[in-house]
Amino acid sequence: MPEPTSAATCLFCRIVAGEIPATIVHDDDDILAFRDIAPRAPTHILVIPKRHVASAADLTEESAPLAGRLLLTAARIAVEEGIAADGYRLVSNVGRWGGQTVDHLHVHLMGGRTFTWPPG
Ligand code: AMP
Repeated sequence: MPEPTSAATCLFCRIVAGEIPATIVHDDDDILAFRDIAPRAPTHILVIPKRHVASAADLTEESAPLAGRLLLTAARIAVEEGIAADGYRLVSNVGRWGGQTVDHLHVHLMGGRTFTWPPG
């Protein structure tokens, strides 16, 4: 079994710390958003809490306001990016079967094309 990712070595924590470059589209006290390095849609942005939370499965009652702000920020960025009127997709993969590859909670904001349902 691999070791659980620690905040010290977490890829997205290192982006938050400015140790790894990213194209940042939103930055506030609690939340960072940046463009996905391998976009799967014309607009593909990752919205993350700055504090290390491994996935949605690790959210607590205490982090409910943070989780709310994550979604609200994603919706606001969608407006700023000009994809809100046509619609877009918000996805957060959880765990191995959910397709999560980076163990730091992130919401994918994807737009600029149509999406099918269910996803593969
Ligand atoms: P997931 O597979 O849901 O955990 O999503 C992780 C996402 O992070 C993928 O869409 C990757 O393309 C993206 N990603 C990985 N490394 C970077 C990076 N250095 N900068 C921006 N996005 C990244």
